[in-house]
Amino acid sequence: MKKNNNLLEVPNINSSDAQVKNIIHKIKDNLFNSYYKSSKSEYLCVCSGGTTSGCARNGLITLDLRKEYNQIHLEKEKNLIKIGGGVIMKDLMNYLEKHNMTFPTGLSKLPGAGYLLTGGISPMSRRYGLAIDNIESIKGYLGNGTFISLEQNSLNSAQKLLWEGLKGAAPFLAIITEIGLKTYQSYPIQIIEGFVNDNELSKIINLAEGFPENLSLQWIYAENIYIYIFAEIKNDSDNKTTKNYLKKLKKFTSLKIQLYENYNQINFFPKELDLFELNKNNHSEVISLLGGNLKDDIQIFINCMREIIKNKPNKSCYVASQQLGGKTKEFDDKTSFFIHRACTWKPWIYAAWKKDDFKEKEIVLKWMNESWKKLKIFFPKIHLAQIHNHLDSHEEEVYLSFGERLSELKTLKNICDPESILPPL
Ligand SMILES: Cc1cc2nc3c(=O)[nH]c(=O)nc-3n(C[C@H](O)[C@H](O)[C@H](O)COP(=O)(O)OP(=O)(O)OC[C@H]3O[C@@H](n4cnc5c(N)ncnc54)[C@H](O)[C@@H]3O)c2cc1C
Repeated sequence: MKKNNNLLEVPNINSSDAQVKNIIHKIKDNLFNSYYKSSKSEYLCVCSGGTTSGCARNGLITLDLRKEYNQIHLEKEKNLIKIGGGVIMKDLMNYLEKHNMTFPTGLSKLPGAGYLLTGGISPMSRRYGLAIDNIESIKGYLGNGTFISLEQNSLNSAQKLLWEGLKGAAPFLAIITEIGLKTYQSYPIQIIEGFVNDNELSKIINLAEGFPENLSLQWIYAENIYIYIFAEIKNDSDNKTTKNYLKKLKKFTSLKIQLYENYNQINFFPKELDLFELNKNNHSEVISLLGGNLKDDIQIFINCMREIIKNKPNKSCYVASQQLGGKTKEFDDKTSFFIHRACTWKPWIYAAWKKDDFKEKEIVLKWMNESWKKLKIFFPKIHLAQIHNHLDSHEEEVYLSFGERLSELKTLKNICDPESILPPL
């Protein structure tokens, strides 16, 4: 147990080292009085899974939702689960597993509601959509203190824009205390995984751009390259198509096939693979990009990756990617504030430095920004899964995330959070 009451115990090391002004656990009426804002730049940090550098900041108050908003309730006959705004994906998935159900969670079970509200890209998204595509109801408080309770199927015209805003941009508008999610029957999963070289990675990316919706590719490029091809086997057709791809993958002799009873049993990028250094003495930032099929540019992209990795300033830095497509491309840009529906790849750049080494921090952030610049030709958009209002890149990230919907979002922010109680846009 930490002795210092001004430290928040969370997975993100930047946040767990932050000297917060205060930690509160329950939303009371007076929370929305701006009495605690001693300056214009103060705002309330909200913590669910605590996996980002935005859930705690020096000198700011954190609302930690994990204790008071951790309820999980399954309405099995409706295939609907209602969870609190402080529930982490591990607890959601363990609960669902007992009922032979599942949900398209991401590559880690550590994230909390931030995963669900900022988009939520899963290896299963190509079949089931993003996490936001599976939100049926939302309860919470707008930044102006108004309690909201919205259901997808009974929205009035005044609520429609807010509903869209909460799906993809909720952290700027509201504190979400309950989310209703569609759930799915669980099926067996095949994983084809292993170390590959960059030449093999380029061939596998090429193959993946033609995948059916039950398959997705995820890769990490660190000291070495490791890939996961995810396949859900729901029916005979899945079995048949997956077998066809397995034949094509046979030539990559380092890949092995693993069978899992369900999605919850998979542990992506485990420590044992020693892909990157998970160092508690490091601080880090992550930036998530979005782009379309690489098509004929795969080889140029691989050359670019080679250079990025060659220049990484700290052993822990890496670039990894997830694959979108299928169902995620079917939704209209207008259904949410995750507007880049045409995208296929979500690479993210993980930049880490020794936590008290400010010189190294500068070098590492420069590497992150330069790598982003190089990758922009392939992946010009942003997935705002991490809020970087403390970094110079914030404004550009916000613009590249919300694009043509940014002015609507600014209007929503002015209505829902006029005093900027919540993180600034
Ligand atoms: C190991 C790891 C793996 C990941 N894998 C994936 C992946 O596969 N796919 C993917 O899409 N993303 C992935 N992410 C990114 C992650 O989903 C996002 O960064 C997400 O925002 C983290 O949410 P959190 O609740 O854990 O973090 P927090 O730091 O607690 O919250 C993040 C932000 O969301 C806001 N927020 C959180 N909860 C609420 C709430 N209830 N109401 C209002 N605002 C809230 C907070 O303001 C905060 O700034 C991964 C992250 C990690 C660390």
